Amino acid sequence: MPTILITGANRGIGQALATSYQAAGWKVYAARRYGGAVVPEGTHPVRLDVGDEHSIKALKDQLGDEPIDVLWNNAGVFLDKGKDLAKLPDEDWLESFRVNCVAPIRLAEMLIDNVAASDRRVMAFTSTKMASLARYGQGSIAYRSSKTALNMAVRCLSHDVAPRGISCIMLHPGWVKTDMGGEAADIDVETSVSGMRKTVDQAGPGQQADYNGRFFDYDGSAIDW
Ligand code: NDP
Repeated sequence: MPTILITGANRGIGQALATSYQAAGWKVYAARRYGGAVVPEGTHPVRLDVGDEHSIKALKDQLGDEPIDVLWNNAGVFLDKGKDLAKLPDEDWLESFRVNCVAPIRLAEMLIDNVAASDRRVMAFTSTKMASLARYGQGSIAYRSSKTALNMAVRCLSHDVAPRGISCIMLHPGWVKTDMGGEAADIDVETSVSGMRKTVDQAGPGQQADYNGRFFDYDGSAIDW
C-alpha cells in the first residue's frame, strides 16, 4: 500500500486530496496544524504547523524511517487577497514567504530520506499560475512573490534530489472553490484533485526526466515559468 503525507489536509484542496487517496487505498497521513481540526475518515491525522521548525521535527520523529511515496506540500496562505499592498504589514508578506516557500522546502529536506526509501519517490508542491513570471498580473504581490520563490526553490531542490531518484513537481490546482479560491472560482475540489492526481500518479523514478523540476496545470499541461 503506497503512503502519502498531505499538508493542510483539514479543508479545501488538501482535504479533497486526502479523501481521494484514502478512497484509492493509500495510507494517508493527513497533516493539520490544530488538534481540533477534522480530517477525512480513515486517514491518519498528524499534527504539523508547516511554519514551525519544531513541529516539522516532531513529525519527523513520529514518522521515523517510514517510507513516504508522495509528500504533497499543499498548505498555503493568501494573506494579501484583495488587499492594497500599501496596507499590507511586512509581517504578512514575510509570513507568506515562510508558509508558502520556506516551509515546504524545510519539510522536504526533513523527509527526504523517507521519500527516497519509497517506491514512488515524489514530492509535489502546490504552486499557482499567479506565480508565473510569463503570466504576471496586477496585485497580490506578497502571494505571487512567495509562490514564485517557491518555484525557484523547488527547481533548485529538484537538482539536489535527482541522484536519489526523487521527482519534485510543481502544480497549479486551477481556480478552485475553497475558502481561498472563493465561490466564484472555476472548478470544484474534486475536479482539481483528479486532474492533479493524473500527473502526480504517473511520476516516479523511471519518469524523472518528464516530471522532475517541472510545473504543471491541473489538466496536465506545462506552465510557462
Ligand atoms: P484553503 O485556504 O482552503 O486551505 C489552506 C490550508 O492550508 C488549510 O488546511 C490551512 O490550515 C493550511 N495551512 C495554512 N497555513 C498553515 C500552517 N502554517 N501549517 C499547516 N497548515 C496550514 O486553501 P486551498 O485549499 O484553496 O489551497 C491549497 C493550496 O492551493 C495552497 O497552497 C494555495 O496557495 C494553492 N492554490 C489554491 C488555489 C485556489 O483557487 N483555491 C489556486 C492556486 C493555488 P488551517 O485550517 O489550520 O488554516
